[in-house]
Amino acid sequence: MKLRDNRELIKKLYDGKAIRREEWYALLTALTANEKEALRSMAASVAEEKFGRGVYIRGLIEISSYCRNNCYYCGLRAGNALAQRYRLTKEDILECCEQGSRLGFNTFVLQGGEDAVQNDEWLTDVVRAIRAAHPEKAITLSVGERGEEAYHAFRKAGADRYLLRHETRNDEHYSLLHPRTMSASNRRECLSALKRAGFQTGSGMMIGSPGQTTEHLIDDLQFLEELQPEMIGIGPFIPAAGTPFAGEPAGSIDTTLLLISLLRLRFPSTLIPATTALATLHPEGRKRAILAGANVIMPNLSPRSVRSKYSIYDNKATGGSESAEDIEKLEKELNAIGYHINYARGDYKI
Ligand code: SAM
Ligand code: SF4
Repeated sequence: MKLRDNRELIKKLYDGKAIRREEWYALLTALTANEKEALRSMAASVAEEKFGRGVYIRGLIEISSYCRNNCYYCGLRAGNALAQRYRLTKEDILECCEQGSRLGFNTFVLQGGEDAVQNDEWLTDVVRAIRAAHPEKAITLSVGERGEEAYHAFRKAGADRYLLRHETRNDEHYSLLHPRTMSASNRRECLSALKRAGFQTGSGMMIGSPGQTTEHLIDDLQFLEELQPEMIGIGPFIPAAGTPFAGEPAGSIDTTLLLISLLRLRFPSTLIPATTALATLHPEGRKRAILAGANVIMPNLSPRSVRSKYSIYDNKATGGSESAEDIEKLEKELNAIGYHINYARGDYKI
């Protein structure tokens, strides 16, 4: 069928019909300003139908800035001599959860580099301790590529969700972003293993990472269609000091927002965060993401003393409503655009 115009294409996406490669291409490159606004507004309506005007919050605990890997884009890469390293203890993490619980959080996200000291056994023990102290809360992990047995052990200890962005589906592009010790296929294998272990699984990619083309983004969209993740995290690439990509330009906010709307229409029930990377690049970045169809915010629950050290990229937003203690400020910001915080666990539901 020949489509008369892009609005028909947007409608096709809204109707849940499969989108061909060239149609994705048109959606990503050929929308007029009016068509983009129509898409954004449709995505916001779909999010509202599914979730109301409530935005789920997740308390983010950045557990370690040590990483054995060397992803070229990331400020925490092992080879970054400028990185400030720290790791939280089990007691630190439990204290963060206590604090989060007092503030009303019902999901904790433990994120960190692949730290050899925070190994699979240590993490399993920490998850078990959080589960014992907070039986009702959701526990999310984002601690990189591990073995299938470890994923099963985390799950058995009480973890519910796992975030592991595939970063890019295109293997050549993957090898431009990572050293040869890392492989796109292993990353994808980890995602399959997470699904087999019964995790609500999150994936996603950076927008505007060095060398990324529209064709790569289409590969990503098609990969997400195959994977059917429960959560999709996307954010603009932001250069990080001391990394091979320190001098590269940041990804586009507009392209990121366009993709959030496309994802919302293609995956109506998915949990999509308004990421810190967007808030870092633009003071209104997070609000604009909510108005484009995102429905999750992850305020920072890490101890204040380490927040500036978890420096994935330069000038990472940490103050004001980015921090869990300023939850009232976040509520006000959301109220100003007609939204509010939803304190529920916010599990994936079809
Ligand atoms: N180590 C774990 C992993 O890689 O999955 C979790 C921590 S890692 C810092 C979390 C995410 O940060 C990565 O999946 C990547 O997409 C994102 N990230 C890393 N460097 C970035 C940069 N320079 N700009 C934007 N996002 C970045
Ligand atoms: Fe390590 Fe994750 Fe950063 Fe890669 S993106 S260097 S795995 S923390």
